[in-house]
Amino acid sequence: MPTHVPIAEVPRAKPPLVPLATLIGRELRNEKLEKPFVKYGQAALAKKGEDYFLVKTDCQRIPGNPSSSFSVFAIFDGHNGISAAIFAKEHLLDNVLNAIPLGASREEWLQSLPRALVAGFVKTDIEFQQRGETSGTTVTFVIIDGWTITVASVGDSRCILDTQGGIVSLLTVDHRLEENVEERERVTASGGEVGRLNIFGGNEVGPLRCWPGGLCLSRSIGDTDVGEYIVPIPHVKQVKLSNAGGRLIIASDGIWDALSSDMAAKSCRGLPAELAVKLVVKEALRSRGLKDDTTCLVVDIIPSDRPILPTTPRKKNNILTSLFIGKKSPSSTNKAANKLSAVGVVEELFEEGSAMLAERLGKDLPSDRNAGLYRCAVCQVDQTPGDGFSVNSGPFFTPGSKPWEGPFLCTNCRKKKDAMEGKRPSRHTVTV
Ligand SMILES: [Zn+2]
Repeated sequence: MPTHVPIAEVPRAKPPLVPLATLIGRELRNEKLEKPFVKYGQAALAKKGEDYFLVKTDCQRIPGNPSSSFSVFAIFDGHNGISAAIFAKEHLLDNVLNAIPLGASREEWLQSLPRALVAGFVKTDIEFQQRGETSGTTVTFVIIDGWTITVASVGDSRCILDTQGGIVSLLTVDHRLEENVEERERVTASGGEVGRLNIFGGNEVGPLRCWPGGLCLSRSIGDTDVGEYIVPIPHVKQVKLSNAGGRLIIASDGIWDALSSDMAAKSCRGLPAELAVKLVVKEALRSRGLKDDTTCLVVDIIPSDRPILPTTPRKKNNILTSLFIGKKSPSSTNKAANKLSAVGVVEELFEEGSAMLAERLGKDLPSDRNAGLYRCAVCQVDQTPGDGFSVNSGPFFTPGSKPWEGPFLCTNCRKKKDAMEGKRPSRHTVTV
């Protein structure tokens, strides 16, 4: 008789169930471990002194909680003066963060960013215009949280993404009237005139501009003296990098008038960010000379604390893809998806560039209804019902115009919305 039971005959115990809290804890630890390092370099050459930039690497989603940190990088290229660029640099970030619902989880926070960016840009524009100054500025505004990058932009500064050896992709669009036919049509439909400068008996010179004002851009913050159809509503794009990381090059038009996206990316591959940025500026100078303010930020999002972004070999499927649009599906954590991201596929989470506020703010009803207050979706100011407004419809609209289908806007922000769309509020057209 054997003195022991053969192992094969021992009934196999099921693995014990892991408590949910432990699983969540593991997930959080993994998230923490996987959080990339963000390294950056900055370089600038001034010609007119109207470029400003913002770098903040110590922002926190939850104040006092270092594991909720995120970074902000932005470039402001001013025109007709510097006050709009300085104002945007000082106020835009706060205005964006104030438009994010309090107590949002990380996932909700990321999802609400595109909307909050629209609200923050419009609010900053309204506040600047109230100061009665006439300058304007482009804004390219980048928020990096973990592997997720959200870029909002107005004007012709640009942000590109280089997955190091992969495709170089543009995360912004150019709001130059010369380059953007859709924007020309929008400006014209809203009551602006687009044409070149006329000199000496009808000879046209220079790029397409918007009149009155003569601005070459179709979107900006500021520019109170140009028509309201030059809107501050940003193009917004949100992508998630694979854990191979990537490099952002954010720069004003002084760089992009001299270098293509590919040239800029290739000119500095394999170098740490602080050196790379100097090379991009040098390369732009070499090819064009210093004709304009030239400001550049290079930001590396890298998987480890190495100074250099690893170069990934170029592969056929190493392209920016729209495979996962919208919310990340649970299956994207499985092995197949991890394999896909390992070869450098970038998940495109969100992209929208419409200049119509109704399309950008969603259709949510005011959130603070229970408190008897309505919060403006743009400026975040609470109003009580009876302050002389109606929600979602009412006498505010001119006959024939579509009813407002967006969330609650205060009187001031609604005026702004109508002005941007080339409509006048009916109260101004009614004469007694
Ligand atoms: Zn408002």
